[in-house]
Amino acid sequence: MKNLAAYMREPETLYLKEVPIPVPGTEEVQVRIEYCGICGSDVHYYKDGRIGSYAVEGDFILGHEVAGIVTETGSAVRHLNVGDRVALEPGLSCGECDNCKRGKYNLCKDIRFFATPPVQGALQNYIVYPANMCFRLPEHVSTKEGALIEPLCVGLHACRQGGVTLGSTVVILGSGCIGLMTAAAAKSMGASEIIVVDLFEKRLEYALKMGATNVVCAAKEDTEDRIARLLGGTGADIVIETAGSEKTVLQTAPLAKSGGTVVLVGLSARSVLPYNIGAAIGKELTIKTVFRYRNLYPVAISAVAGGKIDVLPVVTHEFTLEDAKEAFDTAVGDAESVVKAIIKLF
Ligand SMILES: [Zn+2]
Ligand SMILES: [Zn+2]
Repeated sequence: MKNLAAYMREPETLYLKEVPIPVPGTEEVQVRIEYCGICGSDVHYYKDGRIGSYAVEGDFILGHEVAGIVTETGSAVRHLNVGDRVALEPGLSCGECDNCKRGKYNLCKDIRFFATPPVQGALQNYIVYPANMCFRLPEHVSTKEGALIEPLCVGLHACRQGGVTLGSTVVILGSGCIGLMTAAAAKSMGASEIIVVDLFEKRLEYALKMGATNVVCAAKEDTEDRIARLLGGTGADIVIETAGSEKTVLQTAPLAKSGGTVVLVGLSARSVLPYNIGAAIGKELTIKTVFRYRNLYPVAISAVAGGKIDVLPVVTHEFTLEDAKEAFDTAVGDAESVVKAIIKLF
């Protein structure tokens, strides 16, 4: 038994180092990580060494989308046993502040989130983690699906923020992993029209697999015209921006119907952007935002377990821990074809 962790130091470096196998505290479990998904944020840290004011300093472990098998339990842990397969929710909040007390723990100022400097990530064989943030996977949900619960929660939260419900018409801008998870979430919540927009036709093929009823290739057709035709000229009840480009952020107000809702998920390179406030006010739009997710791991796991959502089609690339550097280089270099790269650790 040994514990290898994948460390980066400088941008575009990654090396494996053996570290001690951690011992769980009384309320913790030791988990042997089986799968770790590579998120857009991991790729940013790997490529640039920073996201905004969060900068990688010294040796740093990436990865926050993980699932594995419980290999040891602390003495006070009751609900988990050795051999249980679990998905780890990657954010430990303080539990004491106003946001935590209101259940909005994703907004906790003291949250410690995997792979957000200075908090180390989870791309390593063994980890210890508070048992109450490890969610047991039912028999027929694999740890590979378990590692995809994290991005699915972002999609579910976006749809909840937007108020997606039976019969909703939804436009999703961006067909990356989060856009696709949002499409799957919208379908599971009963949306009747789910239109996904992206520049790349290849990515739109995945959108159709994940629940889109129509797709629009923005490189080939005018997004606003096409969507107006698809929705009979009215705009969508809910427009969800996941691409994080300035152009798509600006498209949200024109694409929404009067009285509709815009949900901003994607982070743009610039944080201050021009926006069509006139159109938003003229339509009395509700504008909502998404920061990660909250209270959704059990919901996401039961949606996957019950067959309401299939998360596996987003996985386009699979690597081993030994090939972790190749995994990140591929995610950086071939962004068009990598929807979700995942690393298998065992
Ligand atoms: Zn993620
Ligand atoms: Zn808190």
